[in-house]
This record gives sequence, structure tokens and C-alpha cells, in this order.
Amino acid sequence: MWGDKILDEYYRNGEAFLLTISANNNSKLWVSPLESDVKIDDNFIRQNFKKPIINLVGGSNLGEEDDEKDVVKAIKKYFGLSSRTNKILDSSFFKTKNGVCFYCGEETKVFNHVGYIFPFFRKIDSITPDNNKLTFCKECGFKIYSGMAYFYQKGHPKQKKGRALSFFFDSHDYNKLNKINELFGRDLDIRDPSNFNKIRNFDGFKSIHPFDSMFLILFEFIKRLKSKNYFGEFREISPNIKLILLEGSKQFYSYRVIDGDIFNKFALFFSDLIDLGEQIHKNSDNESLKKIIPANLVVSGFFNNLIIGVGKFSESSWERLSEGSRKRNEFTKSLFEGELDFIILNEILMERKKQNKKLPFHYKTFVSKYMEVFNLDKESFEKINKMGYALGIKMKGTNLENFVWDIFRTRGLEQFFSSLVELQAKLKVNMDLRSINQHEKGWRESKAILLNGMLNAIYGGGS
Ligand SMILES: [Zn+2]
Repeated sequence: MWGDKILDEYYRNGEAFLLTISANNNSKLWVSPLESDVKIDDNFIRQNFKKPIINLVGGSNLGEEDDEKDVVKAIKKYFGLSSRTNKILDSSFFKTKNGVCFYCGEETKVFNHVGYIFPFFRKIDSITPDNNKLTFCKECGFKIYSGMAYFYQKGHPKQKKGRALSFFFDSHDYNKLNKINELFGRDLDIRDPSNFNKIRNFDGFKSIHPFDSMFLILFEFIKRLKSKNYFGEFREISPNIKLILLEGSKQFYSYRVIDGDIFNKFALFFSDLIDLGEQIHKNSDNESLKKIIPANLVVSGFFNNLIIGVGKFSESSWERLSEGSRKRNEFTKSLFEGELDFIILNEILMERKKQNKKLPFHYKTFVSKYMEVFNLDKESFEKINKMGYALGIKMKGTNLENFVWDIFRTRGLEQFFSSLVELQAKLKVNMDLRSINQHEKGWRESKAILLNGMLNAIYGGGS
């Protein structure tokens, strides 16, 4: 029953949203939810139950005057509900019996959980015997239910179920939680106007898998914040914001929490990449490069060229793009863990080389910047990368170019080292292999970094 693990976070979103309602409705500001003098009773619920849904689906899809059938229809676009559900109030909040609230533990009037209250609860839990079912009191239930106001989704109509990305922000500070959602909903054109909390597709980028999508959404968010001069406002709160990622649909979800530290670093990382892209753009007279949106330069040059097995980027069918970006999603996942998976990155590069595709541009810019912002061992990376690059320059144009495959196929540190010794002998150079020695435990990573450096020197567009 993992579902309750993010119940607190969802509950906080609901509380934060209700704060904005009561701030709008009452002259008396609801200062803290804990000291609230707003009573969540039948009257309050009846008056306000449409508001979180309107926030979720957008005012053009649902209005206060619409009846409960329309409300249910709107919710169904986001959350799996049983086909029997055709009303809200009478199938949950107003269908109570005596019992214990799962959330606050109070013995009071409670109702059984339904799909739209806490949508991430596994179906399997809802077929458990009645006395084990989740039950909520009206107050807790309504707060949890209101969490949907700040719930976001990115998917595609053709997408196989279970692969869509859902996410929401979290913070212990309600003002900051409201602020991040307010910023996210500002005139940034991130959401799909016809579908509100669904995220639109972004020009120049394609993604299917959840981490890839989250990566792009955050990038576009930061980019647009910067261009509208909202980035300063954002930076005031970003260290206190968590991100909750969910993969799945219809009550079969898995989740991951991106903590405030990583979220904040991502913001800085993207901000720097955007600045760097604009700089490179300004200083370049390369025609094809000039066609790219300056802020996108590094991210699109790198990220878009991590897809394998797909023809031209634009012609990719859904299924092919899904398969071709599977490894990229694994790589992106490592980024969200505060790590950089060189091994998977190297697999991608080798595969693209095999398919005669371009290597990703701005490799070193992207990697160095990430390592700098996330406090990784950038120095070792740069040493090994430089060595790989220097070897690659010597290999380029000779019959030793294919030696990258010999190195790639080595298994074990010893084999790896003897392949390097062999290569040195063939190239008649003497390299200082100590930076790899120091890395004995992570030799696979060293190998990946070294190979990436070589590939860039031989086939790529720079170190
Ligand atoms: Zn309760």
C-alpha cells in the first residue's frame, strides 16, 4: 500500500489551494490552515467542490453552473473512475457512516475512498475487504480531494497507458506552494489552453517517457521564467520546492520524489545552459546553428541527439520514438538522481555511431555544467575526457578508428587496461593512465568517459 506515502504531499496541495479560495472569499485571510476558522462542513463543500476541478481542467471546459455529470466527465479525463460513478457529492462526502478517518485518526462520520479523492491509490487496495478500505472524514477528504487543483499531466493520446507523466509540486510552506503553482500557471504558455493542467508539446522537442518529459517541462519552465523576468521571483522559493513525479494512470502509479536541493540545482543548471546557449549563438557565424533558438542551443543539441534507432528526428512514429528514447530516459533519470550516468550515455553514443548518426553536440558543455552545479567530480571527468579526446585526435583518419569498439567490448579492468596499452603502442604515444588508476572502482565509468572523449574527437563536433 505505497499510495499513502505521498498522501501528505497531496494533502498539502489541497490545503494550500483551499487557502487561496478562502482568501478570495472571505475578507479574513486564512492565515494558517492549522489555525483556520474556516470550517469544512457540508455547506463549504457544496459551495466549493467544483473549484479544484475547474482549476484542473480549465474554466473553458467546466464552469460553476455545470452539473455533476459534467464534473464527473471532466475528472475522467485525468483520473480513472469506475463507470458507475456519475456524481461527486453523494458518492463521497455526503455518503458517510461512522468510522475512523485514515488520515487524522478521528472517530467520526467518514466515507469510503473513491478514485478522485486520492487518485494514486492502487486499485488493488480498493478491492480489499470493506473494513480495510480507506476512509476519510469530510475535512481530510475534502482537503485531499482539492489536491487535484495543482495536479499536472503530460501525455499523448496515442500513448500506451501507464507511461504518461503526472506530477505536482510540494512544499511545507503554503505560501511558496501557492506561489510555485501561480508561477507555473502564469502567461508562460506551458499548459495546453484547451486542457489546462495538461502540459503542451514544445516546439523542437519530443518526449514520451516520464523523465524525458519532466526534463523538458522544467527546461521550458525555466526558460520562460527567464524571458519574462520572473526568474528572480522563482529563485526566492525554488530551494523550498519539491517535485513529485508519478508514472502511470488509472490507479497504477509509481512515484519518485525530487527533493528541493535537486529541484533547485536543476533550475540553476538550466538557467546556466540557457545563458551559455545564448552566448554561443552570439559568438557563432555558423549558419545552421544560427537557425536554432539561442536559449535552446545546448539542450536541443545535446538532448535531441540522444535518441537511437529512429530515422530523422521529425519523422519518427510514436512507437519508434518510444523505443529509441528508452535509453535517453534512463540517462535523464540519473540526472534527476543528482548523478550522471556515463555508462548509459556511452551506450547511446556507441549505438548512434553504429547507425551513422551525429554525436550529440555540446557534450562537454552539458556534462561539465551539470557536474559543476551538482558538485560531482568534474576534475576527474575533465582529465579523462581530455585524455580520450587526445587519443581520438591521433586515431582520427587512421585505421585505428575502429579501435573504439575493441575498448568498448573489454570486460574487466585488466582487459580495459591492456587494450589501452595496446592502443598506445600502436599510436606510439605514452599516456599518463594514472587518472584512470585512481578511479579503479569506477573503471566502467572511466571507460565510458574515455570512449566518449574519443568518439567526440573522431566523429564529433568538438571536445
Ligand atoms: Zn480526518
